[in-house]
Amino acid sequence: MKFKALVLDQSGDSVTAEVREVDERLLGEGELTIKVHYSTINYKDGMAITGTGKIVRSYPMIPGVDLAGEVVNSDFEEFSVGDLVVVTGFRMGELYPGGLSQFARVPARWAIKLPESISTRRAMEIGTAGLTSMLSILALEEHQVVPGSSVLVTGAAGGVGSTAVSLLSKLGYHVVASTGRRSEEPYLRELGASEIIDRSELSTPTQRPLLSERWHGAIDAVGGDTLSNILLQTRYGGCVASVGLAGGANFSTTVYPFLVRAVTLVGIDSVMTPLARRELAWSRLARDLDLSLLDKMVSYVSLSEVIDVARRIMKGEVRGRVVVDMD
Ligand code: NDP
Repeated sequence: MKFKALVLDQSGDSVTAEVREVDERLLGEGELTIKVHYSTINYKDGMAITGTGKIVRSYPMIPGVDLAGEVVNSDFEEFSVGDLVVVTGFRMGELYPGGLSQFARVPARWAIKLPESISTRRAMEIGTAGLTSMLSILALEEHQVVPGSSVLVTGAAGGVGSTAVSLLSKLGYHVVASTGRRSEEPYLRELGASEIIDRSELSTPTQRPLLSERWHGAIDAVGGDTLSNILLQTRYGGCVASVGLAGGANFSTTVYPFLVRAVTLVGIDSVMTPLARRELAWSRLARDLDLSLLDKMVSYVSLSEVIDVARRIMKGEVRGRVVVDMD
């Protein structure tokens, strides 16, 4: 079986990326062989493809943390040929071959059968970014951040941010969107943001133990000093979901937000989330995501355009979600 894939190789200290014809030897191991209909480009894919950080553990590697497609061979009785499935995370594209390939082979326990209302294309429009947003919302709900209250979303014009803004707005939250791209204000308002703030408002370090209370919850894709500042401005009993590091991995805090305001800081991981939690999140996505808003945030590219998009995502130039059509 020959098919096209994006392949990363290491040459000295640098990483090369090339779309080329490969065969089954580059596939992973598992009970399911999947004809990939669509994949996506997330921030982590941008890091892997551009060789930023140590994302990929061995070369050659097919990147791509997300895929959706059709089972073409199954050695597992719960899946049949023709089933439409989504697979995200589980270190695909890092340790195991990923989704930026016309075929993939994965363990059956990684795959989720798509709810009827979600096509393979929709599944990738949502992708890891949408799953991560929903996992964050589940965490906020579990910490009593209820609809009607205000929730901050940082990195709002990115993939996680855009899906978080639209989901929160549909669920009835007052959404405060933080962005470095003021030109994206009309887009963010269309997705449902009630307030837009400039990312610079949150990125300056302060020595103050606490700041005025502004939001009950937050979904933070930025990290660094932004996360420190978010904690200082979270209302009594509020909850902050730490999702990403687009602005930096290190942050500092005192114990005051926790001791004086009973704030909770929750970590969100979409990669190794157990299956039951994933299924819950996908069923909530099927129910709660406004598909007309999803249409506004997605662009489509072919496999040959992925390398260019990966470079742009690392510069913070990509808006919303990018879906890769594997045909
Ligand atoms: P995107 O590139 O789509 O979005 C990131 C956004 O962050 C940008 O659009 C930009 O938003 C903002 N941003 C970029 N650079 C900076 C900077 N230097 N300082 C402050 N803000 C910046 O990426 P994703 O949405 O795919 O991922 C966002 C983050 O979440 C990443 O760090 C990623 O690794 C992480 N992530 C974590 C997951 C998990 O399981 N925990 C799963 C998925 C992603 P704007 O222009 O609006 O300011």
